[in-house]
Amino acid sequence: MNRREFLNQSAVLAGSALAAPGHLAALTAATGARPGIQEQHQGSTANFPEGFLWGIATSAFQVEGAWSEDGKGESIWDRFAHTTGKIKGGTNADVACDHYHRYPQDIEILKRINQKSFRFSIAWPRIQPTGTGAPNAKGLDHYSRVVDKLMEAGIRPFCTLYHWDLPQALEDRGGWPNRDLAGNFSDYAGILAKHLGDRITVWAPFNMPWTVAYLGYGNGAFPPGRASYTDFLKAAHTLNLAQGQAFRSIKAASSKATVGSAYGMSPAYPKTESEADKAAAERYHAFNNVYFLETALYGRYPKAFVVPTPYEEMGFRPGDERIMQVPLDWIGFHFYTRRVVEDARAARGGNAGSLATETEDTAGGGDRWTQLIAAMPTEGPLTDGGLEIWPRSIYDLVTRISRDYDHPIIEITESGCSYLDAPYARENGRVPDARRIEFFRRELPELARAIADGARVRAFHAWSLLDNFEWADGYTERYGLVYVDFRDQTRTVKDSGLWYGRVAAANRLVE
Ligand code: BGC
Ligand code: BGC
Repeated sequence: MNRREFLNQSAVLAGSALAAPGHLAALTAATGARPGIQEQHQGSTANFPEGFLWGIATSAFQVEGAWSEDGKGESIWDRFAHTTGKIKGGTNADVACDHYHRYPQDIEILKRINQKSFRFSIAWPRIQPTGTGAPNAKGLDHYSRVVDKLMEAGIRPFCTLYHWDLPQALEDRGGWPNRDLAGNFSDYAGILAKHLGDRITVWAPFNMPWTVAYLGYGNGAFPPGRASYTDFLKAAHTLNLAQGQAFRSIKAASSKATVGSAYGMSPAYPKTESEADKAAAERYHAFNNVYFLETALYGRYPKAFVVPTPYEEMGFRPGDERIMQVPLDWIGFHFYTRRVVEDARAARGGNAGSLATETEDTAGGGDRWTQLIAAMPTEGPLTDGGLEIWPRSIYDLVTRISRDYDHPIIEITESGCSYLDAPYARENGRVPDARRIEFFRRELPELARAIADGARVRAFHAWSLLDNFEWADGYTERYGLVYVDFRDQTRTVKDSGLWYGRVAAANRLVE
């Protein structure tokens, strides 16, 4: 199952209520009164603060290829992609966009379209092929050259330490549910900061830690493909410990370092005005959006569960609160879609036992921990990737994070859409991806409005530079601002990439 199918499945299973007559009216009536869910705000002249950082994001596994070159070890995603039946189309990421060899050309493109920040990730198995021990010099040298090339182009390197490609050898020792991995990760973080921290100043330990823990260990949609709620709780706790320990080892190795995050967040709206649904939406927010943020800021878990926080199942030990708690320098998060959330018990008259939800225990039972049903609505248009477009939600999300945590510095670490537009021969091979331009043209004014209302957002990263390996979807989705012909690796900047370059140069929306 890929992520979209996973989302769709949760949408379908989540609510036979959705199919009930009168549902749409009920949804509209129930939510129309609240800001954030009704009309789409139409702004056209979005201005951004001086010095705003326009950027683009990628991740190592999705673009690099060179999967076994220069001493790189095997990752869990290599193993998964090499397993028959896991990736749509039977493809893998052995070559992907060949960015490992073509990064100079790709950085030239970034420069040509006026980018000021490039968010990329480092593949842990290139640095430590088995996840522990002395670093592989060839791996470090590679990223050192990438960083130099970015600096020459006047582009800020933003480094994500982990975008899902765990060394397989560490999975063989138990993977993220094994709390020893927090120490391993912290060693790896220290190596990177020591060798690259003279130039990289912006670090995010994990891309979407909730997804790592839940899709990897909770429902098994992603590698290593385990489906156990307890493994999920343990994996998430190790990731929280690892985040805190990595923060400290990065800071110890580089005085210039700032450390933040790259969380996945989906703003949650209650399905009805009932107290039960409102509380369920809050649990969704705690569980899916800030489960790794509040542990860092406050050293404790947010109230995500209807049961008391299950410390024992997590493997929580006295003192862990002090390991997790670190003063993040800024808060980074992605925005793609929203969710409409209801209380599972209310929806089933107190008996949610057999419901499958986004947070279900796939062993078959309902999730007794969070008791919520989260659906991705289809009121707005859907991208080719099947995600609903609802621009107003970025305003709601950014203003909420800003308010709840006393106006931190915020970076939007990803936002984007998949559309399959390809070069058009009759237009000299241009890629006229008007829908992607429209996506950003509607989203960016909402971000500008959040900034005007006081949110300290300093950067926006479009996902993604290149059409790339979209995880279990293989090459069947295209999120790039640049088209990649996977037969010969030709790059063509799409109309959206050219447009985004003009936005970056003007620092406001342009025609
Ligand atoms: C994650 C969300 C994320 C969304 C993006 C989901 O699988 O749970 O956190 O924002 O994907 O589409
Ligand atoms: C992930 C990317 C992924 C994108 C589109 C993001 O949440 O970080 O790796 O390609 O979603 O699905």
